[in-house]
Amino acid sequence: MSNKDSSEFNFPEAVLVKSTEIFGLCKNIVIGKGNIHAPIMFVGEAPGRNEDEQGFPFVGAAGKNLDKLLEKVGLNMNDVYIANILKCRPPENRAPSNEEIRAHTPWLLKQISDINPKVICSLGNYATKFFLAGTDVDKMKDQPGITTVHGKVRMIPLHGKDVKLIPLFHPAAIIYNRALLLNGKKILKL
Ligand code: URA
Repeated sequence: MSNKDSSEFNFPEAVLVKSTEIFGLCKNIVIGKGNIHAPIMFVGEAPGRNEDEQGFPFVGAAGKNLDKLLEKVGLNMNDVYIANILKCRPPENRAPSNEEIRAHTPWLLKQISDINPKVICSLGNYATKFFLAGTDVDKMKDQPGITTVHGKVRMIPLHGKDVKLIPLFHPAAIIYNRALLLNGKKILKL
């Protein structure tokens, strides 16, 4: 089953996603999961193979690490909403292009506007740079990387209000370095 033909996705932000090449290549649009009234949002990079198959973000190996991190800080799926910069899987999990980020993030920003979170945890370089750049994709290249800003909490203006941005290493990185998990745990407890 695929959600790609759903009549729900006729609003402008979804139409923009559908105009990109990766929409034609993916199996499902991966919108998000969790509580749409949650005060905390996690934003990752893009769906991988498992996410594309199942239609939900962070259901593969990286998702297991994110689940562990959430559990360690006493959060569950009821407390958070999880989405990605891209709504469709790039082939071979290649990095998102600027053009794709430009076309897919209006939907993410609509989700943020609807959910109205107090806190956004950006997972990895792409999400972190997107928010640090004030959502201006052209300015992402001038932003510091996640290794520099990991755990450096700051307030960012979004939709006319200040939101707390917590940059975290991408959970996929935690697969290779268990210490990153403990680090994320310490930061979220702040
Ligand atoms: N990595 C991401 O950034 N997002 C997912 O949904 C899965 C893996």
